[in-house]
Amino acid sequence: MSLRINADRLLSDLTHLSQIGAGQDGALWRIAGTKADRAGRDWLDKTMRVEGLHTYYDETGNVFSRRRNTTGPWLLIGSHADTVPAGGHLDGAYGVIAAMEVLRTLHEEGHPLADHVESVAWFDEEGVRPESAGGLVGSTALAGSAHAADLVGYLEIHIEQGRRMEKAGLNLAPVTGIVGVRRYQVSVSGQENHAGTTMWVDRQDAGRVAARIVAELKSIILAVDPKGIGNAGVISFGPGAANVVPGTASAELEIRASSDRALDGIEADLDATLSRIAAEENCAAELVRISAKPAAHFDQRVLSAVHEACLEKGRTDQLLSYAGHDASVISTRLPTAMMFVPSTGGFSHSNKEHTPDEQLVLGAQALLDAVLKVAPMLLEQEVGSPVALAA
Ligand SMILES: [Zn+2]
Repeated sequence: MSLRINADRLLSDLTHLSQIGAGQDGALWRIAGTKADRAGRDWLDKTMRVEGLHTYYDETGNVFSRRRNTTGPWLLIGSHADTVPAGGHLDGAYGVIAAMEVLRTLHEEGHPLADHVESVAWFDEEGVRPESAGGLVGSTALAGSAHAADLVGYLEIHIEQGRRMEKAGLNLAPVTGIVGVRRYQVSVSGQENHAGTTMWVDRQDAGRVAARIVAELKSIILAVDPKGIGNAGVISFGPGAANVVPGTASAELEIRASSDRALDGIEADLDATLSRIAAEENCAAELVRISAKPAAHFDQRVLSAVHEACLEKGRTDQLLSYAGHDASVISTRLPTAMMFVPSTGGFSHSNKEHTPDEQLVLGAQALLDAVLKVAPMLLEQEVGSPVALAA
């Protein structure tokens, strides 16, 4: 039996959601907790209700849908409903609508798995509000909730938000995991002095230390993890005058790598290199970690099944995600995997977000096919026999 998603409904629902919270230029302002965000989630809730499904809000604000009068366990599928300020219409929204489409298809067709699939629109993934503490609010709440015990796993489809798939001509990409992210404050103290009369050898130039560690960042990261990436987004010198040798300097560094071990290695090398440079410049320097999000590694069996579903749809290759997703939090509690569809030009968090319709349809179909492979596997593991799936 081959089940087909309803491509017209998928695309028209995406268009509908992209009108809620849209500005003049089409950019979206469904920032978590705003009226537009609430309107978006209410529309998702009602859309599933009119299809005859049971939908409900949890106390955090996540919106769940499933068949009426079912007792689970369920395979959870979904993504986030909020956007960044002036965001795009596919980030999060695509995964939410695709998950709804998969559940509705199973429900309409009377498929036995329809009783074991639940869709979710996560609240506040982006973490724009100060009280969001970095985002992933809805998924973090779920991972620690009693409802997680009723779930057997989690699948999420998302736009890539980069250019790797487009460049490689990929239609779909199973996601192996999500990079870990650490941020650091570099603080350097030297000695302010006259920039003309102080010879090189006599300087304690804090600015040179900060500039040199920023310049070394790329090679330090790549030596440890060829997939690693980093950024020095903030640097400042004190007192900040052209004719004064900087007596103080600071920088903020961010590193992303495929495993916590790689992050540890990069951190150790950064620390050692900073000490060496500071000594060479007759300064004192300190590297302080200011935040850390662990790397996520998706479940091997679920990932294999997702990969199989993607392979049936054309050019596919596994990718690591460099952006954070709700799936990283959920993977600490449930067997989890993700898949990506390409982003035209690599644009995201902007009104330039775009993926061709045929790839959006292909992705939603691949999600359905992945559910048909993953759900029986995880349910059988949960209940010990395939009996639960009898129609
Ligand atoms: Zn997203």
